[in-house]
Amino acid sequence: MSEPHTEYANLIDGRLVPASTGLSIEVVDPADGSVFATLPRSAAADVDAAVDAARAALHGAWGRMTATERGRVLTRLSALITEHHAELAALESRDTGKPIQQARVDITACARYFEYYGGAADKLHGETIPYAAGSTVMVLRVPHGVTAHIIPWNYPAQIYGRSVGGALAAGNACVVKPAEDACLTPLVISALALQAGVPPGALNVVCGLGSEAGAALAAHPGINHLSFTGSTVTGTAVAQAAAVNHVPVTLELGGKAPQIVFADADLDAALPVVVNAIVQNAGQTCSAGSRVLIERGIHDEVLERLASRFKALRTGPGAAAPDCGPLISARQLARVQGKFESALQAGARIVARAQLLPDAPATGFYFPPVLLAGLPLSHEVAQDEVFGPVLAAFSFEGEDEAVHLANATPYGLTAAVWTRDGGRALRMAHRIEAGQVFINNYGAGGGIELPFGGMKHSGYGREKAFEGLKSFTTLKTVAILHG
Ligand code: NDP
Repeated sequence: MSEPHTEYANLIDGRLVPASTGLSIEVVDPADGSVFATLPRSAAADVDAAVDAARAALHGAWGRMTATERGRVLTRLSALITEHHAELAALESRDTGKPIQQARVDITACARYFEYYGGAADKLHGETIPYAAGSTVMVLRVPHGVTAHIIPWNYPAQIYGRSVGGALAAGNACVVKPAEDACLTPLVISALALQAGVPPGALNVVCGLGSEAGAALAAHPGINHLSFTGSTVTGTAVAQAAAVNHVPVTLELGGKAPQIVFADADLDAALPVVVNAIVQNAGQTCSAGSRVLIERGIHDEVLERLASRFKALRTGPGAAAPDCGPLISARQLARVQGKFESALQAGARIVARAQLLPDAPATGFYFPPVLLAGLPLSHEVAQDEVFGPVLAAFSFEGEDEAVHLANATPYGLTAAVWTRDGGRALRMAHRIEAGQVFINNYGAGGGIELPFGGMKHSGYGREKAFEGLKSFTTLKTVAILHG
């Protein structure tokens, strides 16, 4: 007998409400393709109600709260997330398919975002400027007002935490549109936020399709800032919609991160990280290390050692704690499979492929990790995100060629350099076009304390860190002539 479906609702003005359309979206378990819950399929009217509630909260209890009180509320939310850690991790794993150990890391990170931004709320301030004689000039740092947050499906809890945590700490009121494939932890954590003391209306979640609720939010004249993480195509559409209302946007649009391995690298340290950087979250990570650039002298040895690691990887249901879980959806599986087949047709060869666990349900969305070599540099798999566990290997000779290859895609989000030569490491860090460069380690965008965001087509603006908090504020200059 199949389990009864849990019916999730929007959170608007502190109340759980169905979509005004009366329609719902099925929530699918990526491990076996079964439906286990439903979500509201919201329309523009629901977005209007959420934006109105957020605006009212700014004029009400939320707007009157001191920064210290806001910080305490967020710190309490962090503690509540930690208290509910096990159930949130299980929900995140089921909703997205990610291995349970990865889901645990994600929930811990989400709690840490609220801890970090809770602590930072009353350390954020403006400054004064020496100006004309007999005057005092204050530059106040103030919230934007109503902030919109369009969240993707790959790390719903983490990206919700980094975005909403910073926005609330700065005193904004939020309207969140999670991805239709991964709404559950943002909804449950937002309900915990009410318990922690976030007043009704200060935090609203509207579920639905990107083309309906998402588009309505991006184009809404009542929002004052928009934070978007997702594809370049949708990011462009969202930024264009927001531009009509002159709403500032932060865009985090993915990458094609290189792992650059020089002949003098500590391979024992580098290779497990190189593998993890593409296998983590089944490669559905904006900062996935999807290209490995290997110095010619060690190319064959590195490829052989990577191959044996790939062959040992286990792919299966997230609950079984495999190395690699299923992809998020049948649509994503088809997308990744299509790009993989196109790479093979273009001349790429399979160096190694991971195993699928024998008990992985045939109805799940599995794509065992694969290591490719011989891919033409101009091919889309060498240039663009696959968003699946596909690692493409290339060789180079010397620093100049390494820099050239590293920068030879439209993206510039993250990169890693593996070398024992300190001077080379720093030269590479200066020459690589990316928002984050890791030397002899790789955080896959990790580090709540580290500013994160891209160059080139990876987007603009920064999230995470204190920088992320500042991006949820604007400046107001008050010039007083007092004699
Ligand atoms: P999208 O960019 O379309 O989705 C990201 C978010 O935008 C989701 O919440 C989505 O909602 C929403 N959205 C979609 N269309 C609109 C719209 N017209 N207006 C406003 N919001 C909208 O990515 P996909 O899910 O389609 O994934 C496609 C590819 O994008 C992936 O293969 C990957 O390469 C890249 N991607 C990159 C991510 C990153 O971390 N940088 C994250 C996710 C995807 P909904 O899902 O409900 O449609």
